[in-house]
Amino acid sequence: MKKFLLATIFFTFGSYMSFAQVPTVATPLPQLNKEFQVIAHIVYDKDSNEATSPLMVTAVLNNVNSFFAPIGVSFRVCEIRSIYNFQYYDTIVDARVQEMVNQNFANNRINIYYLNSYKAPVGGKCYNTVAGTGFIVIVDNSPTTVAHELGHYFSLDHTFGTQAGTTAELVNASNCSTTGDRICDTPADPYTQSQGEGTFVDVNANCNFIYAGRDANGHYYNPDVGNIMSYYVSCNDCPHFTHGQLLKMANYYISTFNTSSKDRW
Ligand SMILES: [Zn+2]
Repeated sequence: MKKFLLATIFFTFGSYMSFAQVPTVATPLPQLNKEFQVIAHIVYDKDSNEATSPLMVTAVLNNVNSFFAPIGVSFRVCEIRSIYNFQYYDTIVDARVQEMVNQNFANNRINIYYLNSYKAPVGGKCYNTVAGTGFIVIVDNSPTTVAHELGHYFSLDHTFGTQAGTTAELVNASNCSTTGDRICDTPADPYTQSQGEGTFVDVNANCNFIYAGRDANGHYYNPDVGNIMSYYVSCNDCPHFTHGQLLKMANYYISTFNTSSKDRW
């Protein structure tokens, strides 16, 4: 009986060991161990109403840090600046945004501008990437919106890709590295900006995917509706980046910045 018990324990342990040795993730994530410094520009209108509060800026970024922790990246508000200009508070044209940025920009920092409203009904927008003269505009100061724009800032595309109309990415992932967001662990996402999210998900029923369209092979889609880079903004119970998205952001930083510019950032 004892021998049997020992054998059972050994067998169980042996099975566990062999299971544990099976790699479930192909590439380990790089650890950048990098704290990026953020300059938060909060815009005020003529009555001194603020687009968001300094406390909210810090609280939201602290929350955002959890999404970037797997690659050792965090964001810290090193300075909060106030911009008093009602024309920037409710911005209606890109030129106005650029004018505001030209007058209020800090080099080698992540510049985030908090507005009350923006020309289109968007929560935020990222102009260019961290490698260029990039900056971020935020209207909806929420963790998922700020994380989404930072995702763009670190080179990510939307899960539905960059083309107008339904993605050419196939559900079987055979062309996943060249279509959609060109990341293979984000499933093909048929979302189009001309159709609202209600066409694709039932926001009243746990965000069940209800879209009946199929890909070129006749396969039904099953996108990652909780992905931070998707446009299913109501489906934010478990917002996340995938392993592939985190890897792309880390590699983008590693390959784009040489040693000296890494120091400055
Ligand atoms: Zn976006």
